[in-house]
Amino acid sequence: MSDILSLARPDIVALKAYSHASWNPAFDRLHANELPWRAETDRSLAGLNRYPEPHPLELAARLAGLYDVEPAQLLPGRGSDESIDLVVRGFCRAGVDNVIICPPTFGMYAVAARIQGAQVREVPLLRERAYALDAEAVLAATDANTRVVFLCSPNNPTGNALDRNAMEGLLTALAGKALVVVDEAYLEFSGAESLTTALRRFDNLVVLRTLSKAFGLAGARVGSLIAHPSIVALLCKVIPPYSIPQLTIEAVMATLAAPQLAVQRERVAQVRQERERLREALATRRSVRKIWPSVANFLLTDFDDPEAALEAARGARLLIRDMRSVSPQSLRISVGTPEQNDRLLRSLA
Ligand code: PMP
Repeated sequence: MSDILSLARPDIVALKAYSHASWNPAFDRLHANELPWRAETDRSLAGLNRYPEPHPLELAARLAGLYDVEPAQLLPGRGSDESIDLVVRGFCRAGVDNVIICPPTFGMYAVAARIQGAQVREVPLLRERAYALDAEAVLAATDANTRVVFLCSPNNPTGNALDRNAMEGLLTALAGKALVVVDEAYLEFSGAESLTTALRRFDNLVVLRTLSKAFGLAGARVGSLIAHPSIVALLCKVIPPYSIPQLTIEAVMATLAAPQLAVQRERVAQVRQERERLREALATRRSVRKIWPSVANFLLTDFDDPEAALEAARGARLLIRDMRSVSPQSLRISVGTPEQNDRLLRSLA
């Protein structure tokens, strides 16, 4: 039995879960105060007049199959954004505990921690080593109240994967002391192995996956928190019941059917190809100073004059992301369709 919950908030461990209306699709529902008729515009399979499954087991099982883990190790949420929020809410005591982030990185770790009242400690990635993880500095920044270390691999906005040995080293050093959350939102574009294969060895590991990137379902809002079953069971008390909408459940089940999976895999391959084409073409532009190595579906690109590049892209009706707040010359360019990428390239001197 794992004692990983000794790191969790004691009041959440003690919390009695909300008792939702029972779930049995074989019965007519006169127990949930719903309207008995569908809206006339409702084209869903199950009917939007009904609440969805409170904690969708079939969806969880399907996602567990996709990521090759046990259903008890996986909690579906409304995007990784919700998974991040659940972790800090379940493990950080407001005004007492702290989390560690490694900037430049995805902004929601710090926002979620601050909303929860957790202190945020920053241990920058090493720019001079192509934004490598500084595992020693992370360890030096931890104390008895550190509950979560957030790592992002491949990292947003830099695009590089973090060194797996360095991540496993942190997991070992922080065993029994803190969770290490590894956000793998962009993993499919890298072709690397997920850290989920290390779950058996580390009960302090939480892996985040999402359908928003490689599976083209950003609008459906589905992420997966993958961890030791006792962490999943704890956070299942924190996530509201019915949090995954019925329309989303149906969209996911359709998209994860075998023929669609093959299409998505093909699209990921195309994005990887376009990423390399875009990289080579950008490198020939006079205005481009540096393109950081990326295994994700975007390129962090330094320009001599980032403002002019933003303006040029806007002139071609393209939005690219201003990253000057994290790195003075940098913009982040998501890989688009070949036509969109061509349009961007034409717009840049
Ligand atoms: N993690 C990273 C690293 C991201 O870049 C993003 C979205 N930009 C998210 C998580 C959020 O993903 P989701 O759509 O699953 O909430």
